Amino acid sequence: APTTLHYPYEVPRSAALFERAREVTPGGVNSPVRAFQAVGGTPRFLTAGAGPLVTDADGREYVDLVNSWGALLHGHAEPTVLAAVREAVERGTTFGAPTTGEVRLAEAIVGRVPAVERVRLVGSGTEATMSAIRLARGVTGRPAVVKFAGCYHGHVDALLASAGSGAMTLGLPEGAGVAAAQVADTIVVPFNDIEAVRAAFERHGERIACLVTEAVPANMGVVPPRPGFTAALAALCREYGALFVVDEVITGFRVGPGGWCELEGVEPDLLTFGKAMGGGLPAAAFGGRAELMDRLAPDGPVYQAGTLSGNPLATAAGLAALRLADDDLYARLDTAASSIADAASAALSAVGVAHRVQRAGNLFSVFFTGDEVTDRAAAGAQDTRAYAVFFHAMLARGVYLPPSAFEAWFVSGALDDAALARVHAALPAAAEVTAE
Ligand code: PLP
Repeated sequence: APTTLHYPYEVPRSAALFERAREVTPGGVNSPVRAFQAVGGTPRFLTAGAGPLVTDADGREYVDLVNSWGALLHGHAEPTVLAAVREAVERGTTFGAPTTGEVRLAEAIVGRVPAVERVRLVGSGTEATMSAIRLARGVTGRPAVVKFAGCYHGHVDALLASAGSGAMTLGLPEGAGVAAAQVADTIVVPFNDIEAVRAAFERHGERIACLVTEAVPANMGVVPPRPGFTAALAALCREYGALFVVDEVITGFRVGPGGWCELEGVEPDLLTFGKAMGGGLPAAAFGGRAELMDRLAPDGPVYQAGTLSGNPLATAAGLAALRLADDDLYARLDTAASSIADAASAALSAVGVAHRVQRAGNLFSVFFTGDEVTDRAAAGAQDTRAYAVFFHAMLARGVYLPPSAFEAWFVSGALDDAALARVHAALPAAAEVTAE
């Protein structure tokens, strides 16, 4: 962890809570990146959120550019979403039997995403990708999975090989506890390198059940696919009889109503969703063509299940969030992303800090490197210490960025002029601190 950062103020309540948390929870957190290990300092314990803002235990307020890692499209405590959850909670929190909300949310997803005819709801993005690759193996009768270095698909054993997000932040690309047998059928290739993918298919084609990719890799920072790359992956999968599985857990319902693949005009065989589709509650999904999805239990032989899958509170929140995601929302997300990305770049350029702002729709992140970042190796070559300094300088000025250089910055529709003005005000000074 960085050693000589600027921590210009104390956060005694967060510090005390972190100490307590560490006594009873490994590392004090329930998901590794929250611990601030990549940036140093004390993780802020958040007590409330309202629109674009969050408040920590010490009463400090921040403009939130994490938005629960993309789960919040509309910012915090959006009134319509809250009302839907309140209405649902009064009728009981879980049944373990079919409910209307599940049908409505599934219809909303099928209605928005052209490649999805049937969808199964699950509890987390991890479950969604785990289940999608099980289905791909079940349908094809083949064992192998191709994935990209730096792509993160949750903590699925087979997909932790060279994963992004916390695994990359903490330098744990393989991960203890994953048996060699569990990754023996995982083929890892560099992103944006179609020749490497072709070579993998030429060598292992008959054994490959599926290729899985993030629609836009956003767990090594944002690394847009080169033009035509996604379509070329789809074509290779078709050629070899493998399924093309696209993880839209981050991009789904965020970069546009139908996700990234709709923007690119590519139709994957299977897609996974999470984050935004839950409206801030735990919900995720995987879906695709009917003939594939119908191979799942109870109609088919591929088993998949969940006690709280399709939970009524989560489906109510998700449906409310998706209904609010209209053209106007996407226009506001794009405007907010442009505004912040451009201002960050201008501020860093003004003081001569080498950087690249990489964008795919309203997803973006700032890399502290002079070179274009097209894959994991390039992402790993950035100056993570500079990011840590910049992160703390922004935090001190009331802007909460992702506490790792290997994550996307997430905007929400709640970022109003006042919130954007705060971000704009913080950037030049934070850039100057980073240049020192
Ligand atoms: N897929 C992608 C692209 C993700 O970014 C994530 C989480 O960050 C996941 C899957 C896993 O989702 P979850 O954390 O809900 O298990």
